[in-house]
Amino acid sequence: MNKGSQPFSYFEILDACKEPDCPVCTLGHVSANRHLTSLIFDGVNDVRLRATLRKSLGYCHEHAWLLPDAGESATLGIAIIHRDLLNTIRRRLDESDFGKSSRRDKLKSVVAEAIRLDDATIPMGPTKYLPSKAQCPACERRDEAENLALKSLIDALEDQDEQMAEALKMSDGLCLSHLRQTLESMRSRQAFDKLVTITQDQLSALILELDEFIRKSDHRFRREKISDNERESWRRALQRVVGPKTGI
Ligand SMILES: [Zn+2]
Ligand SMILES: [Zn+2]
Repeated sequence: MNKGSQPFSYFEILDACKEPDCPVCTLGHVSANRHLTSLIFDGVNDVRLRATLRKSLGYCHEHAWLLPDAGESATLGIAIIHRDLLNTIRRRLDESDFGKSSRRDKLKSVVAEAIRLDDATIPMGPTKYLPSKAQCPACERRDEAENLALKSLIDALEDQDEQMAEALKMSDGLCLSHLRQTLESMRSRQAFDKLVTITQDQLSALILELDEFIRKSDHRFRREKISDNERESWRRALQRVVGPKTGI
């Protein structure tokens, strides 16, 4: 691929590889955080966004709790948006009717079964009351950015782009979810094998650091100094499996 025609996300992913954690997750979080900070800065009265929030009934749990840290006027912005949301929920409750609920029917049969088996597990699932009619807008931004980053990464590896391969090699590597998606989308064996090799080398190095951290935590080896990398290897192991911790 001609470097001049690289999409913007190509350079963003190269930069994200220099940061801690999965580079694809990093770009997703940056995009979601950018959305939340611009909402608090001057987007609270954005008509289209407010209409979407009425459909989604607000942000998801993760992104809603990032709002208080999204800017100086966050509390006022949260109050304005959530006043609107509470009014929407109240209106939609007015329209709700005690009709046939599939969950209520299911609950009845489960309760009957629970009495028989002494197991009180309540079934969860879609509800016909107050359903979200749109995705959380911050999740949507995150997913768009992640998809763009994944596409750039895959295209570069398929093009045998050494700069990208080297950047990925030097990064903390892809989390399990993005590793899966990338492997599944590879078009050639060569690119697939390259990603497998890079990942296996990274995992082997991390496992060695975990080995040393665990060994030196034993009282018999307490006099041996734990390096900085070994000391925080548990955090990189966690992020490698579930993705990084979120925050603004
Ligand atoms: Zn990731
Ligand atoms: Zn969300």
